Amino acid sequence: MDKISALTEQFTKFPGVGPRQARRIVYHLLRSRKDALLALANDIASLKDSVSQCTGCFRHFTRSPGAQSEECSICQSTSRTHTLMIVEKDVDLENIERSGTYTGQYFVLGGLYAPLAKEPLAYVRLGELLSRVAALRSAHDLTEIVIALAINPDGDETARMLEGKLATLNESTDEAVPPPFSITHLGRGLSTGSELEYADPETIKHALRSRF
Ligand SMILES: [Zn+2]
Repeated sequence: MDKISALTEQFTKFPGVGPRQARRIVYHLLRSRKDALLALANDIASLKDSVSQCTGCFRHFTRSPGAQSEECSICQSTSRTHTLMIVEKDVDLENIERSGTYTGQYFVLGGLYAPLAKEPLAYVRLGELLSRVAALRSAHDLTEIVIALAINPDGDETARMLEGKLATLNESTDEAVPPPFSITHLGRGLSTGSELEYADPETIKHALRSRF
């Protein structure tokens, strides 16, 4: 395979990139200066060296030089509210954070429940989520969980599955156990099929305000 086709094939593995777009990217690179290409290749090669995955919410974040913490700035913050929002991907979290309308904490699920797949929970951090919820609860740090997944059949299916698992954590009659948390969903201000990743700040604000 020639170089152009080989690189095109690499780019088609990227999310949302089809063969035609992949080829356009390759030709864009061919028009770029060699030093720019080297800088890009270097940034890609060293990407994982300076980026960590947060042990609290599982998002990826750039470590500041010398920082020791395994947690991101959101998880470390003491001024966030006692709400936990479950999103599918890092980009969803970033988009909601950019909208400036949510002040609670997050959990990045990693993927959606796929009932027809060989391993339906392959990409879902279910165990990690349940441990995080248990930890926040025992620290009396949890009053509400907002399920904020894509509004499509897979998102709905995942939300139902999570709700069932999370509800069992609330079933305790032990007096010493912290009070139960509520489980809410983003309002349908988000249109059907919409992805949080692409929602604008106004839509996010509306969906948060009308959560149910
Ligand atoms: Zn975090």
